[in-house]
Amino acid sequence: MSQLWIDSTAFGEMLDEARRAYPLETGGVLVGYIADNDVPVVQHVIGPGLAARHRRHRFHPDHEWQCHRLDELFAASLGQAVYLGDWHTHPDGSPRMSWLDRRTLRGIARHREAQLSRPLMLIVGGGRETWNWRVHRYGSDVLIGFDINFDVLSLHKFQCASSSLVSDLD
Ligand SMILES: [Zn+2]
Repeated sequence: MSQLWIDSTAFGEMLDEARRAYPLETGGVLVGYIADNDVPVVQHVIGPGLAARHRRHRFHPDHEWQCHRLDELFAASLGQAVYLGDWHTHPDGSPRMSWLDRRTLRGIARHREAQLSRPLMLIVGGGRETWNWRVHRYGSDVLIGFDINFDVLSLHKFQCASSSLVSDLD
């Protein structure tokens, strides 16, 4: 199974936002880089933004604010941290992609500005006490119709190196 690495603090922020918005849907953007071995490394998770509108089974992000945050992270990382894909919740649902999710991921893969051939879609399902997550990575279009082939990645958390560096100096 292919892997995805995600910063443990960023992962915690994503679950906090999922809990905050529950029972409404929320989500945002995954930011990081693709390692040389083609493994995605998520360093930051951008939330929905204050002007986002949340519903039970959909949400509209504050796109302008998200783009601003993405620009900030890109600049702060000297161009290393880029858009890798999206994340969203399925309150009281499973973390599997819906038909609409697959069409959305197909659209992201085709979007030229993204310049990302295999975007990610991380879905967090559940609510209240228990959350489950599943990472999907676009593979290719299915020749007939609007469906896609995709991979499911195993998720691994890592601790940001800077925090361990600080404790080493203490
Ligand atoms: Zn969905």
